[in-house]
Amino acid sequence: MRRIIGAKKPFELFKLVENTHTSTGVWACGKCGRLYEQQEQAAKCCEAPFCNECKQQYIEASYYALCPDCVKKRNELKEQARWDKMPLIEYENGPVVDNNGDYYSDLEEFIDHIICNDYDPDDRPGYVETCDTVKIGRDLNIDRIMDQIIEDMMEELEPDYNYKIQGEYELREAIQKFKTIQTEETWIPNRKKIKVCYNEPH
Ligand SMILES: [Zn+2]
Ligand SMILES: [Zn+2]
Repeated sequence: MRRIIGAKKPFELFKLVENTHTSTGVWACGKCGRLYEQQEQAAKCCEAPFCNECKQQYIEASYYALCPDCVKKRNELKEQARWDKMPLIEYENGPVVDNNGDYYSDLEEFIDHIICNDYDPDDRPGYVETCDTVKIGRDLNIDRIMDQIIEDMMEELEPDYNYKIQGEYELREAIQKFKTIQTEETWIPNRKKIKVCYNEPH
């Protein structure tokens, strides 16, 4: 990260009214004179980091050594790449998720949403991602649960303590029963996309 060293302090702009100084609420960078609404912004102006991508200086905070514009561009490219990578499939049925992460119980509901909200035809998403419908708790795994229990217990015990855990079989049965009688479902995006065709209502 490059910085210009030795920037002068920012100064506030005043207007002269009958020999009294009245603040304009505007601050100028002490080095280049660029104007800012806040003193801290003016102070950071010529000490601000340079974007690794477009080489412009930027004032707003950023984690990536990139200016906010370049961060935004990079995220858009990433999102585009994610969609490009998804195989295109024929829609049969089931829930879908759009590029905003909003879920719909089926494609028709999504299309209704777009048409009812008067999207500009150019802004209408061309694709949505399909989802698998899965029962909750399907990832419950007795071996992982037992590992966790033992790991937690070992933190408290002498290393050579000879333990014997009861009820593993009963827990296994209970988990199996929980999965079997479960009716609650959740939707999980499955990284496949379908093309959306909008048929205007007549
Ligand atoms: Zn400056
Ligand atoms: Zn940039």
